[in-house]
Amino acid sequence: METNELPESNKLQKIVREILEKKYADVCSPEYNNLVVKSFKNENVKLRELKYIKVKPIQNEIPKIAEDLKISLVINDKHDIHHVNERGYVEAPVRIKSILKEIEPTGLFKSVAPKNYPLKHILSVHDEKYVKYLEKVCQNVPANKSIYPYVFPIRNAARPPIDLPVRAGYYCLDTFTPLNQNAFLAARRAVDCVLTATDELLAGNNLTYALIRPPGHHAEHKAFGGFCYFNSNAIAAQYLVKHGKVSILDIDYHHGNGSENIFYERSDVQTISIHGHPKFAYPYFSGFEDEKGSGEGEGFNINYALKEKIDGLEYRTYLKKAIQNIKDYKPRFLVLALGLDPAKGDPTGTWSLSANDFEENGILLGKLKIPTVVVQEGGYKVRSLGINARRFFQGLWKGFNEK
Ligand SMILES: [Zn+2]
Repeated sequence: METNELPESNKLQKIVREILEKKYADVCSPEYNNLVVKSFKNENVKLRELKYIKVKPIQNEIPKIAEDLKISLVINDKHDIHHVNERGYVEAPVRIKSILKEIEPTGLFKSVAPKNYPLKHILSVHDEKYVKYLEKVCQNVPANKSIYPYVFPIRNAARPPIDLPVRAGYYCLDTFTPLNQNAFLAARRAVDCVLTATDELLAGNNLTYALIRPPGHHAEHKAFGGFCYFNSNAIAAQYLVKHGKVSILDIDYHHGNGSENIFYERSDVQTISIHGHPKFAYPYFSGFEDEKGSGEGEGFNINYALKEKIDGLEYRTYLKKAIQNIKDYKPRFLVLALGLDPAKGDPTGTWSLSANDFEENGILLGKLKIPTVVVQEGGYKVRSLGINARRFFQGLWKGFNEK
């Protein structure tokens, strides 16, 4: 059938009736169905013009590359058990699929299965009571139900509420990150993936990518929020730091408050974040430029809080400053918290970076030639997510491997 042809009206009517009766039986009456079905006549049904042009994935744009130069890719195989099926919850399973669809055909990646790691790695950056609380409360939430924090005992920090669901606000930064039966399990699996990617790095693979959700960079030492439960990139940095200094560069649109909080008093992990200014962007309470670290950590936390509207060219003037900060620090490893929400049209951001910009950014970061584990954070515009990820990694690979 040509794309501009429709089946005969009797056939169409049959299809519409099937849909109404099978899918919407509980909301549509037989009278209503008859009315709708009858309205399908040949002369008044037309297909609308194609609105979106399908972008063909680029097949092997980069010719066959040696196995040991490929980017190790670890995917959270349990990410979709965490599905908050509520209107407006943009942190959805489809994000992973959109990215995979674009990056897999490039031939740049080799897949590595996630391994299991003990809880002690999570406890190396998170408060034990917090971790145990998350585990227990998630176990007790009925299937398909979510708990949203609604009481925040900020004045009485020594008195966490007894009731587990009520206690959520004691450990939470906001009111839109729910607890459910699988949040703990999915977040723990995301950590397994990041640690697998980190072990790949230690085994001599210079570029590795943990494609995970839920994200992690908003999770603080003893708090969840911003769709995040465990701070995967902080856990990776803590895992690597035994072998040498680590820089965490957070290029998500939102401030990496969790990583800042966890390493604020340390000099062995440098934390840098480029993000929308907290006067208008989540998390609103941190990410200011005068947060520079304290004690031992003074000077080792750097925030670039940028204005509301910015394009890729201007963005890169700040990215270059951050890259200079990393060069001055001379880390052995780089942990890159990759948010794709600086992209044009992202529902949680205000900037306008294009696919080209993501590639340019990737090239600049690759040129550092520091062994890098990339950890997936935000990015919610599903239609451009995959393309931007692909272009970013094509740039990163190119920058890293050029002579
Ligand atoms: Zn973000």
